[in-house]
Amino acid sequence: MVSQNPGPWMVDNPPIQPERGGEDAYNAPCAGESECNCYPLGMRHTSGDRERVDLETEREAPVPMKILLLDDEAFELRLMEHQLRRVGFTELTSCQDASEALAVIDDPRTTPDAILCDLQMPQMDGVEFVRALGDRHYAGVVVLVSGEDERILHSVERLAKAYELQIPGIIHKPVTKEALQALLDVPEARPTGATTSPFHREHTARQLQAALASGDIVNFYQPQVDLQSSRVVGMEALVRWMDPEDGLILPGQFITLAEEHGLIDDLTRRVLALALDDLAIWRRAGLDLTVSVNVSMASLSALNFVDLVSAEIERAQVPPANLVLEVTESRLMQDRRGPLDILNRLRLRRIGLSIDDFGTGHSSLVQLRDIPFTELKMDQSFVHGAHHDPSLQAMLEANLRMARELSMTTVAEGIEDIADWDYLASTDCDLAQGYFVARPMPAGDVMDWIAGWTGPRSKPVSPSL
Ligand code: C2E
Ligand code: MG
Ligand code: MG
Repeated sequence: MVSQNPGPWMVDNPPIQPERGGEDAYNAPCAGESECNCYPLGMRHTSGDRERVDLETEREAPVPMKILLLDDEAFELRLMEHQLRRVGFTELTSCQDASEALAVIDDPRTTPDAILCDLQMPQMDGVEFVRALGDRHYAGVVVLVSGEDERILHSVERLAKAYELQIPGIIHKPVTKEALQALLDVPEARPTGATTSPFHREHTARQLQAALASGDIVNFYQPQVDLQSSRVVGMEALVRWMDPEDGLILPGQFITLAEEHGLIDDLTRRVLALALDDLAIWRRAGLDLTVSVNVSMASLSALNFVDLVSAEIERAQVPPANLVLEVTESRLMQDRRGPLDILNRLRLRRIGLSIDDFGTGHSSLVQLRDIPFTELKMDQSFVHGAHHDPSLQAMLEANLRMARELSMTTVAEGIEDIADWDYLASTDCDLAQGYFVARPMPAGDVMDWIAGWTGPRSKPVSPSL
């Protein structure tokens, strides 16, 4: 669809019509109505432009990712388009208006895999746009771009995360090729060739039950590394649903479903059994690791839980102390006695207990008072960026002091770059976990990853490489 109200760049650089027969779902015009000035960039290269792009994409393999750019400034859009093409992205749709962008997003033929969004726009600002994406449960990647000051960017980033949007990072204007390249590389979905579906399709409890039975529920693992020695000391199991149609589905999309439909015990049992089997394999290969498994509070009401965990440990023939159960209070407990009873009995059997997401509303001092935790995991919202934020530092260091006095191991989640690593290494936090060290990976990749890990200094500075 060609604009009725073209932005200034279109005058210099008029759209060309797509070749006949080449109009596939990606090249389909914007779903917006007649005033829409969005269109895939592939439709509007001049022939000279196209030759240049082809040459460049021959040098760098084209990445088949659909990207939507939203900025009210035509010049900024052109700059981003240019930089994106330089790093090999060709499926680009540009919009100067947020409501047009939402029309593109709502049309399944044009739904982007990633959105680059300016924060300051006249009709609908970046905060409203983020809210609209959250309401749609948009599951693609959202990169916030702005000339605003750091604190505003970070607080909108936090808001976007509260809406469970995938935010790999933020970009300051002017947008550079390197920043785009770093943020739009989303490697977690790649090891198996699977992609996360851009929208949360509603899955039913019956489908989840079938996935549990058919083995489509699998574990990915994310390393935990000693901040002083860089030694790999453990792996956190993070559940994934490998749906044959929708690809890789993240736990945020099905844990509540499992809890609400009585499937959480089956899910926990599956994750635990896989994790202990993998732990046994790693131990046989001479790796002394712990494995951490997330346990929903809902599972801790089943009184046979302790026996179930003990039976799995026995079956896999691994020491109980090498298993850590991570607990977050995902919803308010009506009756706390059941979980307290179970957690204390698990601890008596030498199983490690970790309080996950510490510092968020759900994981708090009350739990710390009542449960004999051995490990405290600082929530990523206190970790990433703490190196330049004195108030985060104050909170984080107070938590570390408290954990030290309680003889707990401390883990910092959300280490996303070398600055995060360096800051945490300068505190007395024990372990690091986060994208900077490694993204969650399939079980089959763990041993190779450990063999290749030589510490933070050998890594490039970019968070996602
Ligand atoms: P969690 O236990 O706090 O796990 C950490 C989450 O943060 C993971 O998301 C991980 O991929 C992500 N993450 C790791 N490093 C970074 C980083 O540097 N930056 C950012 N922004 N994120 C990072 P994931 O795998 O989507 O899991 C989300 C949550 O789902 C987990 O949070 C956990 O509460 C829950 N979950 C995962 N697996 C299970 C499970 O088997 N059972 C239960 N009940 N819950 C699970
Ligand atoms: Mg966890
Ligand atoms: Mg956590």
